[in-house]
Amino acid sequence: MNCPRDKTPLVTHPVHSIQVEECPQCRGFWFEAAELSKAKDAADPDLRWLDFDLWSDSDALSAEWSARKCPQCEITMMRIVYDGTEVTVDYCPDGHGIWLDKGEFEAILSALETEIVTKDASEYLAASLKEARELFAGDEGFVSEWKDLLTVTRLMQYRVLAEHPKLAELFVALQTSNPLK
Ligand SMILES: [Zn+2]
Ligand SMILES: [Zn+2]
Repeated sequence: MNCPRDKTPLVTHPVHSIQVEECPQCRGFWFEAAELSKAKDAADPDLRWLDFDLWSDSDALSAEWSARKCPQCEITMMRIVYDGTEVTVDYCPDGHGIWLDKGEFEAILSALETEIVTKDASEYLAASLKEARELFAGDEGFVSEWKDLLTVTRLMQYRVLAEHPKLAELFVALQTSNPLK
C-alpha cells in the first residue's frame, strides 16, 4: 500500500498485537480496520482511555469529501471534521480504515491531553501523554515503544469505525452528494 498523500510505500510496524502502517516520508498513519478490530478484541488490563469521547459534542461533527484516496481500494475518502478543534480524520467509506496525517495524530493527542486535564486524571496518565507528544515531536522513527499507542488505535476503532449514530448519518448524507472534484 502507498501513502495517500505522497504515494511513498507504507512501512508496517507491529504495535503489541496489531500492525500499523506509517509513511516514512510524511509520517502519516494508516490504521487498517481489520487490525483495529484485533486491538479491540485483545484483552488488555491497561485499557485506560476508553471513556474518553473524541466527539463528545455531536453537533460539532461534520463530514466532507477528502482530497485523499483510500490506500487499499483507491476510492475517495471522507474527512471527519470536529468544529473548534484541529481533530480531523480521513475515513474510507467502505470501512477499510482510517488515515491520520502526522499533525492530525498530534491533534488527537492534544485533545486527549485536554480531556485528561479536565478530568483530573492521574499524574501517570499525564506523564504518559507527555512522553507520547515528545516522541512525536522528534524526527525519530516510529514510536512503537509508546505503550499507549494501542489505546489510541482502540479509540479510533470505537469512535470512528464502530457505530457512531451521528457519523453514520453524515456519511449517508455525504454519499448522496457528488464526490467528483
Ligand atoms: Zn506520506
Ligand atoms: Zn477503502
